[in-house]
Amino acid sequence: MNIILIGAPGAGKGTYAKFIKEKYGFPHISTGDLLREEVAKESELGVEARKYMSEGKLVPDDLVIRVLKSRIGLPDCKNGFLLDGFPRNVLQARELEKFLDVSVVLSLVVPKEVILDRLSGRRTCRNCKAIFHVRNIPPKKEGVCDKCGGELYQRDDEKPEVIENRLKIYEEQTKPLLDYYSKKGLLYEIDAKYPISEVDKILSQIDAVLEEKSREEKAKKLIWR
Ligand code: AMP
Repeated sequence: MNIILIGAPGAGKGTYAKFIKEKYGFPHISTGDLLREEVAKESELGVEARKYMSEGKLVPDDLVIRVLKSRIGLPDCKNGFLLDGFPRNVLQARELEKFLDVSVVLSLVVPKEVILDRLSGRRTCRNCKAIFHVRNIPPKKEGVCDKCGGELYQRDDEKPEVIENRLKIYEEQTKPLLDYYSKKGLLYEIDAKYPISEVDKILSQIDAVLEEKSREEKAKKLIWR
């Protein structure tokens, strides 16, 4: 099963992707993470991508598609995977269809004020990438990761001026994808406004969709046998 997770920045894609990975075993492919790895390695692609990422702009499609293709070519992806952060526009969705069948698209729906609060307070561990929030999920010691002791930092693209830009790009470029996938009958909306303390309300909705889809996929396989 190939799953796509769509949501504005701060909608919780990373959190729910982790849940889906743990429960269903699908590898979690985040194009944002793949690009940040390239930036950290200072590869040619990373140096180019950084110019766009630090301003909250979308990285050119051909660069993202290159990192994505090389990741999903690895053996762990052969039975399906979860895409987080890709596609970000209709052109990327059309490119994706050339080499992949999409099984289901989960759209995380969160009001703008919740998004702004989540993003501006978010802190990430430089070492293990664990995510905290200055109020909602504070670390035991300020600035230090509870899990590995690494340094917590605010990503360049989570600074207020850049957040506004990312949200604008989401509205203009990524939102049209909802209509695109809805017309194909692949879109499922998840009400994801709840805080982390009520995360089960979100996970149960995701579970219901994925259970239904996996039953459908099993039934299809039986018919074709
Ligand atoms: P994310 O971690 O998904 O919020 O992505 C962080 C940044 O990486 C985005 O603001 C973009 O600059 C870049 N990025 C991630 N995925 C894509 C994509 N599919 N297309 C273009 N840029 C992307």
